[in-house]
Amino acid sequence: MTTSVVIVGGGVAAAAAAYELTTTGRDDLRIQVLTGPSLGGALQSTTVDDRHFDLGADGFLAKRPEARDFINDLGLGDELVDIAASGAWIYLDGQLNAIPTGMVLGVPTSLDQLRAIPGLSRAATREAWRDRFFPRRLKLPTGDVAIGEILRQKFGDHLTHELIEPMLGGIHAGRVDDLGAATVFPQLLTAARAGGSLMAAITPPASSGATGPAFQSLRGTMGSLAPRAFDILEQRGVTIRRGAVATKLRRTAAASRPFEVDTHDTTTPADAVVLALGPRPLGHLAGHLHADVARLAATPSASVAMVTFIVAAADVTLPESGTGVLIPLQTAHQESSDSFISTAVTFLDRKWPHLARASSVLVRVHCGRIDDARISTFSDEDLARRVDSEMAQLFGTWPRGTSVIVQRWSDALPQYRVGHGELVAAARAAVQPEGVFLAGMLYDGVGIPASIGSGRRAARELLATLS
Ligand SMILES: Cc1cc2nc3c(=O)[nH]c(=O)nc-3n(C[C@H](O)[C@H](O)[C@H](O)COP(=O)(O)OP(=O)(O)OC[C@H]3O[C@@H](n4cnc5c(N)ncnc54)[C@H](O)[C@@H]3O)c2cc1C
Repeated sequence: MTTSVVIVGGGVAAAAAAYELTTTGRDDLRIQVLTGPSLGGALQSTTVDDRHFDLGADGFLAKRPEARDFINDLGLGDELVDIAASGAWIYLDGQLNAIPTGMVLGVPTSLDQLRAIPGLSRAATREAWRDRFFPRRLKLPTGDVAIGEILRQKFGDHLTHELIEPMLGGIHAGRVDDLGAATVFPQLLTAARAGGSLMAAITPPASSGATGPAFQSLRGTMGSLAPRAFDILEQRGVTIRRGAVATKLRRTAAASRPFEVDTHDTTTPADAVVLALGPRPLGHLAGHLHADVARLAATPSASVAMVTFIVAAADVTLPESGTGVLIPLQTAHQESSDSFISTAVTFLDRKWPHLARASSVLVRVHCGRIDDARISTFSDEDLARRVDSEMAQLFGTWPRGTSVIVQRWSDALPQYRVGHGELVAAARAAVQPEGVFLAGMLYDGVGIPASIGSGRRAARELLATLS
């Protein structure tokens, strides 16, 4: 008898789970993927003139192996490109400041680094100085702790908000006061527990000598990864049901297979199910299976927008180097009585040289945070106008009203709050034994490598229950 596995999700986690299942050589597995409303999920791209570029994730951390391995396994390794720029800027005190090297996710490791940032407030520098020479004692509870609690107690509000939060919070579009150190920044928790100066304790050991690019991407865009993976999976015998939205997941005690997955016009019996979904669809499909799944599905997600400008190269003065600019929260916007909506800027065609053209540059602006929903009150046109004026303030020379693409990402970035790891473990323990496996960026880390790793992990755990 065949074993029916239904994978729900059309992002990289679902693709990786399906791929892993095909590597066993078992011909008794019947694998179906319902890709849902958005093939590729958080990976989407577009083409303007002859340039194919990403509208969401545009590359991945290369020191983690999962994404590179998956791309190589798919036979797409020839398309890997290395990042071509390094360094970044932070907008502080009305000026662009080069971010010194050697910091760990925005946490400084030496006072010299801070002296090299002229826009940093004296209060922030004082906080670092005190940590270095008169470190505060910190009594931490066992278990997870908010990143903000560690940073505020060891440093103070200024350093936390001016320098560290823009970098650390930006990855999740979250706030350091909410994000849990155990899942988002475990080195910080270890360093805080070590006592003494946090700057000293977080300093990584002398380089292992490892070389290689910090980030990589695909020449054909990261947005091409999932569609191509699904094409390859079809050749490996997997049934890909593009656009099929799962509407219900049912236990069926009386039937020969323990689950049924409905779409609006089909019912598929399943022996095992992989759910590679964000919190909201997870709750809709599987919240009824167990209270721990419902609790995990209540994880809030940040909605963000990416505004990409195609600007005539002669009309803009960007910093001479670097991959982009970070913008701290509460940065005053001169044209309104408000703070910036933009949180970061990426120089896309510097990072990925195959996108570079002599005539124009690609500047992508990240907007919105978990506690800043202003983007939802703007139309695309108004958002583009607003961000345009923020870029004019940031760069000084900026052509107003150039070609722009607005991409919205609704409920896109799950917030790993304090205790998230326990929520995930409890949900998995509740439903995995009966055949429901959980994968994707809600579980094992936000980011392409983590999501791919999570998909493969779910498949391996599923296979282990079959053998
Ligand atoms: C704006 C943005 C920028 C990012 N930038 C980076 C970056 O530069 N580098 C990096 O490494 N990571 C980045 N990330 C994170 C990275 O993109 C994700 O970790 C990864 O793509 C998540 O993949 P996933 O498969 O877990 O989830 P998703 O990509 O969210 O996929 C979920 C899938 O579920 C499907 N679905 C939903 N409901 C149903 C249903 N009822 N039935 C069937 N299917 C359904 C959707 O169609 C979708 O395909 C970024 C994320 C965002 C949102």
